[in-house]
Amino acid sequence: MKVPFLDLGAATRELQGELEAAMARVLESGWYLLGAELEAFESAFADFVGAPHCVGVASGLDALTLGLRAAGIAPGDEVLVPAHTYIATWLAVSACGARPVPVDVEDAFGGLATSALEAALSPHTRALLPVHLYGHALDLAPLVDFAAAHDLTLLEDAAQAHGARRGGRPVGSLGGRAAAWSFYPGKNLGALADGGALTTADPELAQRLRLLRNYGSKRKYHHQIKGVNSRLDELQAAVLRVKLGHLEAWNERRRRVAKRYLESLAGLGYGLPTPAPGAEPAWHLFTITSDRRDALRAALEAEGVGALVHYPIPPHLQPAYAELGHQPGDFPVAEKLAKELLSLPIGPQLSDAQQAHVISALRRFAERS
Ligand SMILES: *Cc1c(COP(=O)(O)O)cnc(C)c1O
Repeated sequence: MKVPFLDLGAATRELQGELEAAMARVLESGWYLLGAELEAFESAFADFVGAPHCVGVASGLDALTLGLRAAGIAPGDEVLVPAHTYIATWLAVSACGARPVPVDVEDAFGGLATSALEAALSPHTRALLPVHLYGHALDLAPLVDFAAAHDLTLLEDAAQAHGARRGGRPVGSLGGRAAAWSFYPGKNLGALADGGALTTADPELAQRLRLLRNYGSKRKYHHQIKGVNSRLDELQAAVLRVKLGHLEAWNERRRRVAKRYLESLAGLGYGLPTPAPGAEPAWHLFTITSDRRDALRAALEAEGVGALVHYPIPPHLQPAYAELGHQPGDFPVAEKLAKELLSLPIGPQLSDAQQAHVISALRRFAERS
């Protein structure tokens, strides 16, 4: 049996009729950028995450970068980032000309201890950029307090957390200044191309972002600031509005798969991603740990199971960040996670039989080793 890590084709086929109707409507309209479809999606997504404003942009990386720029982050500033995350979190800081200052995580879900944040502060620190990694909503309250105490902008990287909740409230309404979202096709809410958005309760921030994404212009050929071209197009907005209508049901399927993994894999010696009390993950990824990760991945592969590593090399050890001068050993938790993490298939189109096959393969490996 073949179990792909994620079957995007199956996801599209499930909604084929609705997607085709939405796309036909856009083709017919004759209007392809910054129109009614974008407005309708922005409004629906703002409602979904419980934020007053949503501004669509061209990618998750742009949502982070332009969100930081809209908040005034500029060259010379420092931004606290987790040492364990997808590199885009760091690249957004670099794209503003600011410096990412890594903080080691407490756990695989991107938890940041205030003591570690405290130690990383400098007179140049201007923002804090935590990540709701794998769709595990962070407990934001201590970070909100920390940001307020040190006068920092708190921008959340919510690229993996569409529909995740903490204490019953959705990510996007947990108290950060803004949350940045990605609609990369493989995300829980994915377009059929790149896309992103920023949600916020701050009307001025939303307004600045609307200018930034459109050449710094509100009125054609009148430019208030030096903006960029970063827009979520009408076709993708229409696709996303269709898929948003299914997000809660698809996340529910992911929760069922996660529950079954957690029950079936208990006691086999793997580290399991047990949610914190009060957290309802969106289960973008179901990531276990094993001190024999590479052998496990090969064994799964041999049984037709696609498992992926998120992420094999932490940003501070990537050649792209050699300039920061970090060494192996600087962020031991992040580095250990990079060696031990393995993500199992958890897409909404994963069948019961496919999941049973993954679980038996994991059992066999545990019994052999
Ligand atoms: C996907 C992702 C991004 C970047 O989103 P893109 O739309 O691919 O630019 C940023 N941060 C995290 C944690 C992500 O997973």
